[in-house]
Amino acid sequence: MENKIDICYLCGKKLKGNIDDDHVPLKQFYAKSIRKMHNPNLFTLPTHISCNNSYQMDEDYFVHSLAPLTIGSYSGSSIWKDISKRMKRPESKKINIMVLGEFNQNIILPDNKIIKRFNGKRIRRIIWKITRGLFFKETGRFLPENTPRLFKFISVDEKPPPEFLYYISTSPSRGQYPGVFDYKYVDLPEYNNFHYWGMLFWDKLIVTVAFHDPSCLCDKCKNP
Ligand SMILES: [Zn+2]
Ligand SMILES: [Zn+2]
Repeated sequence: MENKIDICYLCGKKLKGNIDDDHVPLKQFYAKSIRKMHNPNLFTLPTHISCNNSYQMDEDYFVHSLAPLTIGSYSGSSIWKDISKRMKRPESKKINIMVLGEFNQNIILPDNKIIKRFNGKRIRRIIWKITRGLFFKETGRFLPENTPRLFKFISVDEKPPPEFLYYISTSPSRGQYPGVFDYKYVDLPEYNNFHYWGMLFWDKLIVTVAFHDPSCLCDKCKNP
């Protein structure tokens, strides 16, 4: 698809030294059984090893914390099987306690819906990483980490907000394996070069991300 990529999409600097192939989105999103059965050919981008490594722990947290919410879909139930297996290992103890603790604080709504708490900062960090990777894939442009952005989480089975339905629902799916991970986006140059993205995780969980174009010169973008 591209000429040779010579910058790291995470830091924007020239690639040199040891280079990682980073999966966009995370390889961990694909359960072992799904990888085995469907042998998906996953997209990767080259990064500095150190840039990629700095996300490792938050990526583990992301999958452990959110996958339980997606049990019931084909890909969500499969990933949960992987996680429950892994949870039995002693080295998983720390993350287990953390994630189980988040469940203990559940608020159960009258219609039996469950609100699970999670560490929003870590989750947003990973969603932003994925957004930046996909933006690079789609446009060939670097999206700086400090670009102002707005996230919206839509609970499982909750109706998406009007802006989502209006802008995104009719635009084409772009995920390679949409049952595991799907995304759509629109560019709205008439609104400050606004970019609006929607992502679907394990066929259950929707998150939207809104941000201005990296070339935007509005006050907010000039002084992030
Ligand atoms: Zn880098
Ligand atoms: Zn702006």
